[in-house]
Amino acid sequence: MYHNPYKTREGGATVSVFVPYNCNNNCPFCINKQEYEDMTGFSAESICRSIAMMDSLTPRCDFVFTGGEPLANLESLQKMLDCVPETHRVFINTTLPLTHSYGEDEVVDFLNRNKAKITCINVSRHLFPYVEESNDHIFTRLEVPARINCVLVGGHDTDKLLHFVRRFSDGLGLPVQFRMDYTKTTPENLYDESDDAILKDLDSIFEFVSLAGCRIRCNYEFIYNGRQVSYHKTLPYSTITETGEDGRVYDVLYDIIVKQTGEIRSDWDKEIKLDLDAYKDVVFEPSDMHFIKRKKSRRKSGK
Ligand code: SF4
Repeated sequence: MYHNPYKTREGGATVSVFVPYNCNNNCPFCINKQEYEDMTGFSAESICRSIAMMDSLTPRCDFVFTGGEPLANLESLQKMLDCVPETHRVFINTTLPLTHSYGEDEVVDFLNRNKAKITCINVSRHLFPYVEESNDHIFTRLEVPARINCVLVGGHDTDKLLHFVRRFSDGLGLPVQFRMDYTKTTPENLYDESDDAILKDLDSIFEFVSLAGCRIRCNYEFIYNGRQVSYHKTLPYSTITETGEDGRVYDVLYDIIVKQTGEIRSDWDKEIKLDLDAYKDVVFEPSDMHFIKRKKSRRKSGK
């Protein structure tokens, strides 16, 4: 399939790896779940080969293990983690599930044993219990950094937001990131503040600190009792086509996807294989996460 020459940030696009096994949840905003209904061709070995390939092309890119549920098969996850050299940052998106196979001790031991390999675990918790939650006490036993990710879907009470932050921030000292349902994010509303009910709510209860953003995602930072609370918005795709200063048209890649079969794709929403030969010649640009910040100022809420 035709594509433009690739461009990405220094270090390389983030590589998101879909683990080859499922989770036990059914979140209403999930767009990955149905891929796990037919596991034909899913292969940890193929994924490991793809990880090695991406390491050879961009030896300093970030890897994110996602799913499904990375911690649902600790033996398989260990094999995949062991394929990632220590030049990379590694993030794991998880619900911290406790199953009949692995109780709290096994999960804690696994994460602590791999703490040198894991940069941070992003733990899904929501205002409504979409995911099966382990006891909050588990966080006090972890030696790996953790952040709480909370997708906000539909309406919510402002009090509920505050209660949620208190649960994890006051109680456990964890940073909390609220996230807009990315299936609803568009180029038009990515930076819209006037009609963003979530942002208005957060503004009313936390102290706004900063906004950083790029072509495809943005992050509002707040402070609550000295702890970080953030609000993240991202588009549901990760390739932007634009003309560079050199007059050439580029596909700017933010995320590269390793599917459950090991297939390497250049975007989330399209079945387009990454052209590995072309990616060898990718043009690097500085990280543009402050790209919008420079262009756009925002008042401090002063709360
Ligand atoms: S836990 Fe993750 S993969 Fe599972 S249903 Fe929820 S969003 Fe989807």
